[in-house]
Parts: sequence; structure tokens; C-alpha cells
Amino acid sequence: MNGYEVIAKRFRPQKFSEVFEQDAIVQTLKNAIRLERIGHAYLFCGTRGTGKTTLARLFAKAINCENLTSDGEPCNECSSCTEITSGYSLDVIEIDGASNRGIDDIRNLNETVGYAASNGKYKIYIIDEVHMLTKEAFNALLKTLEEPPSHVVFFFATTEPHKVLPTILSRCQRFDLKRITPEKIEAKLFSIASELNIEVDKGALKVLASHAEGSLRDAESLLDQLICFEEPPITREHAIKALGLIQTDFFFRLDQAASKYDLAAAFSLSEALFKEGAHLQHVLESLAEHFRAIARTQMGESPPLPEYATSAKIYSKHHVLDILDYLIEALEKGQRTPFKRIHLEVTFLHIIRSMKKIPLDSLVERLEALKNNAPPKNEKVVEPVLDHAPPEVIEPVAPPIQEKVPPAVPIKEETPAPIAQEVPIFPETPTPEPTPKEPIAPKTALPPSSIQEKIKHEQVMRFASIELNGSLKK
Ligand SMILES: [Zn+2]
Repeated sequence: MNGYEVIAKRFRPQKFSEVFEQDAIVQTLKNAIRLERIGHAYLFCGTRGTGKTTLARLFAKAINCENLTSDGEPCNECSSCTEITSGYSLDVIEIDGASNRGIDDIRNLNETVGYAASNGKYKIYIIDEVHMLTKEAFNALLKTLEEPPSHVVFFFATTEPHKVLPTILSRCQRFDLKRITPEKIEAKLFSIASELNIEVDKGALKVLASHAEGSLRDAESLLDQLICFEEPPITREHAIKALGLIQTDFFFRLDQAASKYDLAAAFSLSEALFKEGAHLQHVLESLAEHFRAIARTQMGESPPLPEYATSAKIYSKHHVLDILDYLIEALEKGQRTPFKRIHLEVTFLHIIRSMKKIPLDSLVERLEALKNNAPPKNEKVVEPVLDHAPPEVIEPVAPPIQEKVPPAVPIKEETPAPIAQEVPIFPETPTPEPTPKEPIAPKTALPPSSIQEKIKHEQVMRFASIELNGSLKK
């Protein structure tokens, strides 16, 4: 056996102050020790790798420590502390609830509960994945929990607290552990890398931290893997390759293609991705992550990569949210479709094509603006594609709302057929009609410009009806 110790084990917190993100829980546990109000059963809930068993072990160490420091930390030097650290303590019994889940396992446990602690004051039982116990096992455990000997403390850890029987829950002090933020994980990985004297650049650590989904242990294992995978200095590209992630570069290329309305890029990008062996669902998930990062950048957060600042300017806020909605649907459909590549191409095409679609929200906003005679908000709106001239910035028209004026005669003469007046328009909205002869608008509308405005207005209305029809059919 070699002497290598995995990072997660080597850098496991040995003091409360080294525990990440769980300040409130640490404070409560320390107070319990200081005030000598130690409960009989504690339940730690939270996703994997957030420090449930670490906290249980630390607490076990602290309550049995012979020389607790003035700020409530275990000394890590006394015999009890060193035994617990090395895993040889007879007073700390760790049970894996997933593999010892039957009634006999719990009966065996119950038999040992009566014996006094061998070294410290307390005998501590840590049951990991406690939700895996069978119902009979839970009931057997309950018997002990109802009247536990004063020297016994139970620690239960679970990722699924809803599966723990309510009768057990009601006898525990429950703590919900938070997921660890990517920033904290990154900082921890950085300190580990510096201590190991391995050069890893920040971009690589960022990738690991965001991939770990709030689990510090996952992140540490990934760092272990990466160190074996590449010679230092380890870069962001190494991390992406080692984790089998998709280079974000692909998605930035998609953004650029969208900005140029380059439909052919949809095919070349998906071909390149499939050549790299990318999996459809994985690409879609990464793509959703990409648009999520764009949305967050647009909402004022600092971009995870400088390129996001550029991409954020390509789409409007509404547009990015629409794309995210679409991608969630695409992910669901992607699971069922046998035509993986076509599905990806269609998704890319949809994103590029959507650059020319007026989002419903902005349409409504425009119509409102028309109605209220106010200029639309400054937010960027995507211009629609029309067979003929696209509507440009819509200038306020000032229609008296109640008055219904028949279409002005000169329009029919000067513009032969561009306006489909039969298109159904939502009935409750009275059609605002410009009155060329009695302009109320601040601007004195001359006949030709008023005709132009009328055309624009009609086009917007037409679009609104098509768009609304489309979304009603959904
Ligand atoms: Zn100690």
C-alpha cells in the first residue's frame, strides 16, 4: 500500500473553524458543548459532500476531548482526539445505514448501547444514510431513542430526510446543511493546491467548482483526478478535457452565428460536436448552462468568462429567458428522440432563427406604447423579418381611442395592397386609428408621415395577431 491519501481525506476539517458554510450549525453545536446541553440525537440533512459526517465526527471529538480549547475547538492532541482522527476510537461507532439496514443490525447496536464509553465521556453512534434503514430497523432504533442511556449520543446523516420516520425525526435535533457555493469551493481548492504545491490556474478551479454542484467532496475528488490526468501547470482546458465537458467556445460560436443569422453554422457546429463524441443530452444541458450564464450576466452579475459580456449583448433579456424555456423542453424531448443529431441541429437552428422573432412581451409593450402614445422602453428588441419592409422604431401615434374613423382614403390610393385589414385583432382592444386631419400628437403629423405611421401600426397589429395565434395554439 502506498502512503497516498486522497485530498478529501487529507484535508478533512479537524476544527469547527475549518468547516465551510455551516456557521449557524457550528455555532449551535459549540453552544451545546459550552452550556453542557448535549442532546441524545442529532440529524444532519443535506446533499452529498457538504460535511454531514465531518460535522458529526468533529462534534464527537469535541464532546470527548480532554483539553477543549477556550473557543470550543477540540485539541486534536489528546488520546481521544487522535483516536477519533485515525478512526480507531472505540467510543465512536460509525454505521453505514445503506449496508446495515436490517432489524438485526440495529438489535446488535442496541445491545452495545448499555456499555460505558471506554475512553471519553460519551459513546457516539454515527449512522450514515439513515433513511435506508428498514421500517423494522427504525422501530428497533426507536426503542433505544425513547430512553437512551445518558452517555450515548446518536448522529444521523441523510440526503433524504423525508424518508426518515416522523417518530424518529421528532426525537432529533435537525440541522439542514447548505450547499457550498462555487466561490467557497474554489477558494478551498486553491488553498489545497497551494499546500500541495501544484500549479493549477484559476480557470481550472472555477470549472471544478461549478461542476461539483455544491459538494466540496466531489470537487476535491475531481481535483485528485485532474492532478493524475495532467502535468502541472493545470489549465482550464485540461479541466474541461478531463471532465469530458464541452468547450464553451462552441457555444460562443453559436452566439456569433446567431448575431449574424448564419443558419449554416447550426449544421457545422453540431457536426463538430458529434465528431468530438459529445452526448446529445450533455450538449443540451451545457447549452442551458451557457444561456443561464448569459442571463445572469445580463442581470448584472459578473460574467464567469469575459466572452459572456459579448454574448449578453447579442440577445435581449426576454429572448434569453425564452431560449432557456425552449431548452428545457428540448432536454425533455431529447431523451425520447432516436434522431439525436437532427435534434441538436434543430435546436441550434431554432436559437439562430429566433433572432428574427419578436418576443411576445415586447410586442405587448409596443402595442401598449402605441395605445398610450408613449415611446417603447429602451430595452433592445429583436426586429422581425417581414417579406417587405420591416417595421423600424415605432413612433408614437396619437389616436383618440373611442373614435372609430374609417380608413383614410389616401392610404388606399398610395399603398396598393400591403395591409391585410381582415386579420383578426383581439376584440377587446379597440383599434387605434390615426386621424390624419386632426393630429393630437405633439409632433405635427404631416400626411405622408402619418401614412407611414399607419403602415407601421398595421404591420405591428398584424404581427401581434400572428404571434398571439401562434402562442394560443401551443
Ligand atoms: Zn482533544
